[in-house]
Amino acid sequence: MTGNAMPEPILVSACLLGLSTRYDGQSKRNDKVLEYLRRENLQPIPICPEQLAGLPTPRPKSFFASGGGSDVLDGNGLLVQENGTDVGEAFIRGAAESLKLAQLAGCRRALFKDGSPSCGVHRIYLGAEQVAGQGVTTALLLRHGLQFISEGDLL
Ligand code: SF4
Repeated sequence: MTGNAMPEPILVSACLLGLSTRYDGQSKRNDKVLEYLRRENLQPIPICPEQLAGLPTPRPKSFFASGGGSDVLDGNGLLVQENGTDVGEAFIRGAAESLKLAQLAGCRRALFKDGSPSCGVHRIYLGAEQVAGQGVTTALLLRHGLQFISEGDLL
């Protein structure tokens, strides 16, 4: 066989790739992400954990009221929409579906959108305040050995 090596699959937050999956119906297309994927010969597997959870788009904004992604997985943290609805269970469902997808596609790495209650890699929102922490899907996939970077890690 000749030719280039097969690209490695990598799980990528769909909004970073230009899909309009965000709570406000917009995307967060990021040219640095697209360039990085090309340069590193990576095959993006786009996912939006919140859509995989069955939540609509647009949808109310969500944030942590206590704890972070790992706490929500363990039934300790509290994740709410701005109207006060507890969405912890839905986000756990989205995380579980994302894990299935990662395993089906053979992804060992992920490039996720920081700050998101699902996809946050280094930081999340606790109320209106940015704090160090991970989103619910990131926390679950970390427990299963995936390695993470966020769009902010790309130079
Ligand atoms: S859940 Fe993740 S992929 Fe979906 S819109 Fe939010 S940051 Fe993007």
